[in-house]
Amino acid sequence: MGLEAGKISNLLVMGKSGAGKQPRIDVLVREFDLDQLSTGDLFRTYLKKFEEVDFEGDLSSFYDEETDSFVSDEEILWSLGPVAKWDDPQGVVLGLKAKYFVESGKFVPDSITNEMFGTVFKSKECRGWVLDGYPRTVAQTENLLNLVVESGSNIDAVLIVEGDDDEIVARTTGRRICPNCKKVYHIEFKPPSKEGNCTHCGTPVIRRSDDSEEKIRSRLEEFHTKTELSIKFLEHQGIPIVKVPGNLSEYSREIVRKSVMDAFDAI
Ligand code: AMP
Repeated sequence: MGLEAGKISNLLVMGKSGAGKQPRIDVLVREFDLDQLSTGDLFRTYLKKFEEVDFEGDLSSFYDEETDSFVSDEEILWSLGPVAKWDDPQGVVLGLKAKYFVESGKFVPDSITNEMFGTVFKSKECRGWVLDGYPRTVAQTENLLNLVVESGSNIDAVLIVEGDDDEIVARTTGRRICPNCKKVYHIEFKPPSKEGNCTHCGTPVIRRSDDSEEKIRSRLEEFHTKTELSIKFLEHQGIPIVKVPGNLSEYSREIVRKSVMDAFDAI
């Protein structure tokens, strides 16, 4: 049985940050001819827009812990300086808000995440999505189910990439990414073939700003308290869920492909 290329509208790939989702997503994109939509990548794009502004102040001055909200967008823009020179002031504000959470290893609040995700999900024609890193909470899952109904599509299946917390911490601290084409490397297990530069496009690879042990542990905690509930919620909706190990004793492109395809064959 399994899934058929050309007949898939949405596949969800879920798992702890650093579990090894990307190689499995690559398999799904190739085998089923799908497009990847990653909320982590979207947030990093906005983060970059904000970083281009060169603001050196303290981001927490824009956030009120008591009311759990930011000051108004107008106030943020006013504090950042002359907005006229920026192409996308709203993108800069979103980047500032995302940075505040991403860099502390926390999930970005649902209101911000849902709005950003919904805009992209609704605006792009695609062959079918592999959703990466969304949903991560019950509120995001509800939002996705509504969007899917509105668009007349459905969620075909969920792939969970499993991994042990301590192993993930050990692996993620060695992770490097290409800021240009988003390819993911590991200094020990999968180094880029051109010394320090992306094998694919040649750009120097970098360590993600949120890949320190403290921030990784904080993201794992977020997964246990929020994402595990959203997986249960999806299960209750009767959506097929399959699981694959993120850490394989032997690793090759073919072994990863087989592990993913075998899991979907069981549906
Ligand atoms: P990722 O690349 O998927 O590990 O995401 C990097 C960071 O972006 C996460 O640690 C969160 O701070 C933020 N993020 C990505 N996706 C979401 C989401 N669905 N909900 C909340 N925050 C998210």
